[in-house]
Amino acid sequence: MRLLPTFATLSKNSLEVLMSEISVVDTPSSDSLNLRGQTVFWLRVALDVPLQALFDYRAAVPVPVGSRVIVPFGRRKLVGVVVAVPAEPALDSRQIKDVDQVLDDTPPMPSDWLRLASFAAKYYQRPLGEVMLPALPPSLRKVTAYQGKRSAGGPVQRMDRRKAKNTLEPVNADSPPELNSEQLAAAHAIAATQGHKATLLYGVTGSGKTEVYLHAAQAALARGHQVLFLVPEINLTPQLEASLRARLTGLAGPGTLAVMHSGLADGERLQAWTSVQRGKARILLGTRLAIFAPMPDLGLIIVDEEHDTSYKQQDGLRYSARDLAVWRARDRNIPVVLGSATPSLESWNHAERGHYQRYTLARRAREVELPKVRLVDTRRLAMKEGFSPHLVTALGERLERGEQSLIFINRRGYAPVLNCASCGWVSNCPRCTAYTVLHRGGARHNHLQCHHCGYQARVPRACPDCGDQDLKPMGRGTQRVEEHLAELFPEARIARIDADSTRLKGSAAALFAKVHAGEVDLLVGTQMVAKGHDFANLGLVGVLNADAMLFAQDFRAPERLFAQLMQVAGRAGRHVTGGEVIIQTDYPEQPVYQALLKHDYPGFAEYGLAEREAVGLPPYAFQALLTAESRELSAALAFLTQARLLPTQHPQCFPTASVITLYDPVPLRVVRVANIERAQLLVESANRPALQAFLTAWSLALGDLAREFRVRYNLEVDPLEI
Ligand code: ADP
Ligand code: ZN
Ligand code: ZN
Repeated sequence: MRLLPTFATLSKNSLEVLMSEISVVDTPSSDSLNLRGQTVFWLRVALDVPLQALFDYRAAVPVPVGSRVIVPFGRRKLVGVVVAVPAEPALDSRQIKDVDQVLDDTPPMPSDWLRLASFAAKYYQRPLGEVMLPALPPSLRKVTAYQGKRSAGGPVQRMDRRKAKNTLEPVNADSPPELNSEQLAAAHAIAATQGHKATLLYGVTGSGKTEVYLHAAQAALARGHQVLFLVPEINLTPQLEASLRARLTGLAGPGTLAVMHSGLADGERLQAWTSVQRGKARILLGTRLAIFAPMPDLGLIIVDEEHDTSYKQQDGLRYSARDLAVWRARDRNIPVVLGSATPSLESWNHAERGHYQRYTLARRAREVELPKVRLVDTRRLAMKEGFSPHLVTALGERLERGEQSLIFINRRGYAPVLNCASCGWVSNCPRCTAYTVLHRGGARHNHLQCHHCGYQARVPRACPDCGDQDLKPMGRGTQRVEEHLAELFPEARIARIDADSTRLKGSAAALFAKVHAGEVDLLVGTQMVAKGHDFANLGLVGVLNADAMLFAQDFRAPERLFAQLMQVAGRAGRHVTGGEVIIQTDYPEQPVYQALLKHDYPGFAEYGLAEREAVGLPPYAFQALLTAESRELSAALAFLTQARLLPTQHPQCFPTASVITLYDPVPLRVVRVANIERAQLLVESANRPALQAFLTAWSLALGDLAREFRVRYNLEVDPLEI
């Protein structure tokens, strides 16, 4: 075993050693002799332990790079990945332990997979093992999967021995539509791409981006390539999976589509992984974690809804699957397609500068117009339960025409806070700096719930402070909206789709099926309903409470609001004519709303990018965020303050510090969650390599510092929320 030198002894030289260790060697080096004259082989192994280090072991037989091995580590045994076979160990060879077992139930991880993991480790400042091992399906990284009689042969053999499940495919395909000229231009360009090229497919909602993906994928499959198709969330888009099965597996044969997401059981995940690694599956449809699937014949990557924040992992290795997709495509010299109706400003900027080729689908594919957007200025209106008279009238008209309507409000529960009118008491969570949300009815009766830590409490009969019985719910969430709609339109069939109404497995699918079957007139939903769905009979979308999102702290709030409202607006009038979106706001003059009025993403992007450039925010600068957690806010802040001083105290370790800005440590907006206090420090630079070099040196020191201050910390590169 070998540990990296501590920060005190760290020099530029040892940094280079660390970097060179991560470089991958493909062929076993020449044999060497150990003390007893036997041939031995040295293996450098990545383990899932929180140490910026790799660990050397000895094997009696040659082991290819990329193999998984079981090794002793302290008193434990761990699965690791062999990342190099050095000629000499980094330690005195007498201190080196033997490998326990070489796992050969899967082929060694291919070299491009090792490169991807190494890049992610370097870029996101994580130990290589903390990237590689969590990327594997659980069955391939658990020692227990290989121990004991019942595990004979390992999980892959056991899986192969079990009878293969009936595959559902192929499904009857509706005959595909003929592509329009915009679709054809994009599909041809992507299919004709030789080598690496990133394409931004900017297409308004309903413009038929899926058809373009399908054509590009067909062309890649026909050339014998595998296709990786990334989506933000699979469970919400069963329609897409059905079209892929129907249209693509016809070409590649049954069993050639694999699906990968975090909701799969271990066995299913292993099945999908091995079938793409063996090349049996030709198409992999997956969420962000699928970016790490080994695909020997990978020839095309598609990232649908590339702007979606679900591509960003929010714990552990905080990677962006969209960004890694672009890197992986460049590394493999293959095309990548990023599609969206509201691209991230990062991707739009790349297209503006010519780094990405851009194709535009400006019209809806079917004969329906984009919905008309109406802003209802709520400042001078008599509002009732959050509804303007305009919205109520419009809902009534749609009901009469037998069309469906959607009320979009991005807040679940009945009301965000309970309030005492006489003394001002509010329902606070005892463990967080946040209100508890009032939830109504159902099996668990009325209760207060904290959306940050899950804390639950009964609704008090009277004010805990003054005893007054008149406690009032303030503001509204989906439940209250649902209740009010039932009062307004007692005849209407109403459904609510949010995280609460879809908690049980299969309930989301069942609710959506009801909507598709026309058994729902009014649908109330959070962002869960905004994505992807192709509702045939939906004419009207009403948006409540959008302003709350507009004034969120984050500089990306307007971008996110624009994307979300365009997306939810895109649910209206996909198949019925005269689709309409009504946005209620106190600030109709805001640029976000003005751009929405005209469906003008390019205009919004131009404005947004100019604003970012003027103040030096991404994509004109690069950021990292150091977050610290502790029982005491003072400890978290002290840690960050000390971390901020490191470059001044050790200038030789931070040669790029002069072009890095370190902001003051500040408490998070919701400072306490589940009795843990949180603070953060923002790091920024206009120079990405300089920032990377800085972070690499910095992260080597942070571990020791965190132990000293007894805080937990996290360093996030390219944070999406600040
Ligand atoms: P997007 O993903 O761009 O929002 P979709 O791919 O869901 O749009 O397409 C919207 C609808 O238009 C779908 O019902 C699809 O079948 C249909 N469609 C796509 N291309 C065409 C075409 N060329 N002609 C007719 N209908 C099309
Ligand atoms: Zn009171
Ligand atoms: Zn709480």
